[in-house]
Amino acid sequence: MAVWEILKYPHPMLKRRSEKVERIDEETRRMVEDMTETMYHANGIGLAACQIGISRRVIVLDVSPIDPEHDLFAMINPEVISEEGEIDHEEGCLSVPDCFEKVKRREKICVRGLSPDGKEIEVVGEGILAFALQHEIDHLNGIIILDRMSRLKREIYRNKVKKEKRKGEID
Ligand SMILES: [Zn+2]
Repeated sequence: MAVWEILKYPHPMLKRRSEKVERIDEETRRMVEDMTETMYHANGIGLAACQIGISRRVIVLDVSPIDPEHDLFAMINPEVISEEGEIDHEEGCLSVPDCFEKVKRREKICVRGLSPDGKEIEVVGEGILAFALQHEIDHLNGIIILDRMSRLKREIYRNKVKKEKRKGEID
């Protein structure tokens, strides 16, 4: 297992739609292990493959620090089957540091996909599990929380990152 570098906004990889996994093999399973270790290392509750630079539809989630009823799991090619309700949820992202904002989420969703050993799995999530699933599936579609915020808030964050980058270049 290995800890990978987590790509940060505005890395172009975060805007790309990830590709479907056609064949689950040893490499896929190794990737899931690395993603899990990287997520834990960063104290995150979810990670999408594109966040470590791999354009594949794979996510790992462990929301147990917030909701102990759910354990670690990985999902390959997740698809939203049904969703209901709407709520503003304040969230952050390992790829968008120092940004916590309210985004619109569904209250409850049902997601179907494959486990790392190729079995079909279905997860019904409410609360943090539902939000985390939507957040990670967003990543697979090239969407980050900034895209779900108001234009003004997005601009403020964008300018802050630009300024920090400039400062870094001068120092
Ligand atoms: Zn994220």
